[in-house]
Amino acid sequence: MENIIIIGTGCAGFTAGIYAARANLNPLILEGKQPGGQLTTTSEVENFPGFPEGVDGFMLMDNLRKQALKFGARIQNTYVDSVRLDDSKKVLNAGGKTIEAKAVIIATGAAPRLLGIPGEKEMYGGMGVTTCATCDGAFYRDMDVVVVGGGDSACEEALFLTRFCSSVTILHRRDKFRASQIMAQRVVDHPKINVQWNTKPEKINPGEDGKVKSISILNLENEERSEIECKGVFIAIGHVPNTEFLNDALPRDENGYLIPKTNSSVLTSIPGVYVAGDCADHVYRQAITAAGMGCQAAIEAERWLAEKSA
Ligand code: NAP
Repeated sequence: MENIIIIGTGCAGFTAGIYAARANLNPLILEGKQPGGQLTTTSEVENFPGFPEGVDGFMLMDNLRKQALKFGARIQNTYVDSVRLDDSKKVLNAGGKTIEAKAVIIATGAAPRLLGIPGEKEMYGGMGVTTCATCDGAFYRDMDVVVVGGGDSACEEALFLTRFCSSVTILHRRDKFRASQIMAQRVVDHPKINVQWNTKPEKINPGEDGKVKSISILNLENEERSEIECKGVFIAIGHVPNTEFLNDALPRDENGYLIPKTNSSVLTSIPGVYVAGDCADHVYRQAITAAGMGCQAAIEAERWLAEKSA
């Protein structure tokens, strides 16, 4: 039986791995469908403390990974399908195999939310609809693209896309950005970016080649419908926590976020089971807060395991 399994390799998972490994717990970290988590699809991270010039998201995650390995953590690429969690034993079903552990830290993060409009799924990935400008932006060199959303992600994606694209149109459903002031100002000031406020995307339309040709929109103020010609649609409307696999093993809120025990951000109602990062945090959702939760969860697990074996 494993001492401790950490599910997830984002900031929360790797930080938990570093702490658990340094505590000689020989942790096993399970890497899911997106190794390195959300930051691997971010270009420049400007707000992670200790990097005054900013740091490349992929590099930051690669460094966290190396740091966890350096202290003895083991990393395995396995997707957990289901779990059975109780006080004495935690059983994970992953890729047809069963793994047992004394303690588990759930740090599975969140995945991009989609609009659910016609054409989105059909043209997702390679056909013009994407959720990652860092990954796909360069494919849209000298083309017109659309970004949907009004948060920091949408602004960041739009700014990144200006490096390649002829024009970037942001569609936002309200008349004010949710993004931080500094990001919003950069977007508004950028000569290549045009913002269409109070706008709801209704349908993504294919051309003869099956790839994105345009997006149909509704102006929520005057209820007029129109179409914007574009080659790419970048969706940046937030995230959905990756907690489906837990079913009802742990309490979740109506949006799927794990609900920690009262007065704690990482403890759960099951001794030896901890949560960390975006799968359990719908308020802060920052790389640094996820890392902080990973640290807390590992320290709690270490103390619980020590008490149990005393
Ligand atoms: P977010 O802050 O939740 O923003 C999501 C945006 O999408 C909102 O503007 C929302 O509109 C819009 N939206 C949601 N559902 C929609 C729908 N069905 N149709 C159309 N629009 C929809 O998510 P985020 O931008 O991914 O950011 C998540 C967190 O990460 C935030 O805390 C953010 O500050 C942080 N972050 C930081 C950085 C950075 O500092 N470099 C970069 C990226 C993200 P409403 O505004 O009307 O709700």
